Amino acid sequence: MEYPQLHFTGQVWRPPYEASSQLLQITSGCTWHKCKFCSLYHGTPFRMSPLSEVEEDLRVISHWQPRARRVYLTGANPFALSYNRLMDIAVLLRKYLPHMVSFGMFARVTDIAPKSVEELKKLRHMKLDSINIGMETAHDPTLEKMNKGYRASDIISQLSKLDEAGIRYNLFYLNGLGGKGCGVESAVATADVVNRLHPCIINIVSLTIFPESSLYQDVIDGKYEEEPEIERLIEMRTLVDRLKIRVNILGHHVSNTVPVTGALPYDKAAVLREFDKAMAQFSEAELKDYRNGIWHL
Ligand code: SF4
Repeated sequence: MEYPQLHFTGQVWRPPYEASSQLLQITSGCTWHKCKFCSLYHGTPFRMSPLSEVEEDLRVISHWQPRARRVYLTGANPFALSYNRLMDIAVLLRKYLPHMVSFGMFARVTDIAPKSVEELKKLRHMKLDSINIGMETAHDPTLEKMNKGYRASDIISQLSKLDEAGIRYNLFYLNGLGGKGCGVESAVATADVVNRLHPCIINIVSLTIFPESSLYQDVIDGKYEEEPEIERLIEMRTLVDRLKIRVNILGHHVSNTVPVTGALPYDKAAVLREFDKAMAQFSEAELKDYRNGIWHL
């Protein structure tokens, strides 16, 4: 029997907590493609899937997963699509998957800007209940150095719109991004911003530089010095310690030398203890050795 193929192209990423979600490609690659540290969508130009292609995939999915309850739309930042386009896709999702309870996707901070709170509320009404945002840090000098294309003030203004519209959001924090000597500054600036918002999850990932990124060349040219591993632990500890909001910390990504998870504020003391224990137990060389063994995320 021949199985029909879905239209996945390029790299497909999804957060770990979307493991049971039905994946559907509506874009591939990234609209921005300029962050210095990024190698995730290397070689994949941005492409918006034609609606006919999305509908074809939905026909296949409705045959094999007719009772799918959660759909995750793939691509680096499908939320870059216009409000009207996202509404068209939401209508198709409802038509083909009547049991769907919610859908989500990745977004850049800047993707929220063209959408009004009213439009965001309408998307929420159409079952868009959460988005995942690669914030990385809210430390302005680091955001600029890494060419993220937004500032801390944009993070506050755009994510506040999601709060108002009732769309949940999860953030990604990139530990070590500031480089040597910037760890604590990055953590303090980020905690200050995040304490004014209401993220559901903060995913902590630790910077691991791969040859496909332009930051790799900066390291070779001596223009960027990587943050030492112990400094990274101090950075993460500072971030967690300074957070005053209720938020889940998910820091068990392969790139983290010390895996931590917990619900703040209840687990704060336990998470901080994990960092203290690791700093007492492991040397810089041991931790670096672990990082050098990471070949892929
Ligand atoms: S980090 Fe995200 S926004 Fe930046 S280039 Fe990579 S995929 Fe695009």
